[in-house]
Amino acid sequence: MAPATEADLVALAALCAEVEACTLCDLYATRTRAVPGEGDPAADLVFVGEAPGYHEDQQGRPFVGQAGKLLEQLLVSIGLTRQQVFIANVLKSRPPNNRDPRPEEIAACQPYLWRQIALIKPKVICTLGNHATKLLTGNPAGITRVHGRPQAIEIAGHNLYLYPIFHPAAALYTPAMLTTLKEDFLRLPELLAQAAPPAGAAALPVHDVPAGDGPSAPAGAAGDVPAVTPAEAPAAPPAKPEQLGLF
Ligand code: SF4
Repeated sequence: MAPATEADLVALAALCAEVEACTLCDLYATRTRAVPGEGDPAADLVFVGEAPGYHEDQQGRPFVGQAGKLLEQLLVSIGLTRQQVFIANVLKSRPPNNRDPRPEEIAACQPYLWRQIALIKPKVICTLGNHATKLLTGNPAGITRVHGRPQAIEIAGHNLYLYPIFHPAAALYTPAMLTTLKEDFLRLPELLAQAAPPAGAAALPVHDVPAGDGPSAPAGAAGDVPAVTPAEAPAAPPAKPEQLGLF
């Protein structure tokens, strides 16, 4: 993992400020604070959820409620902390009453996520739940069908593995889902240890936003790779000096 360049850090900080002032969709009018995302600006592992909830909206930080606590516990199970990964959402502002994101909101906000991915250059993106998974795969298949199956994909000119898993908020109240989420999580170290996928996966264009159940995935948009098998958790890598608070 290469450290973030000074130019990348400046660009991420500028992006954060842009998100905090954003009025590109109607959600700006009802949010308390925008939630750009936070974590290691050069993280190998990025988590992408659906949208901020109540606590995230209040604090301007992603995954700070019960789901966030579960995510942190799951990270510990593979030897990582939340400071060593980057956590973001598809939508940077909370939909009122936590309703589902609307296609026009996703279309307005998606470029921010694509720019974050281009700057952070992760090896693996874990999508949390249905909305993030459908957006980043361009495939309407639900999370129950695709969880735990890594796919080689290109986003924003960057080749990476996309790894869908259940959303921690859903797993909090469904023991069977929590068991599956833990099992899928334990496969992450092996995926992170693999070399980056080769160029060649069809790029997912920035405006290819599935609406509702979404369109069928374009052929070759996300190539399957062999399933990883459970592996021992690695020791936690040392914290990096360039780690930032908020992005
Ligand atoms: S959800 Fe995204 S596009 Fe809409 S106001 Fe918030 S930051 Fe802007």
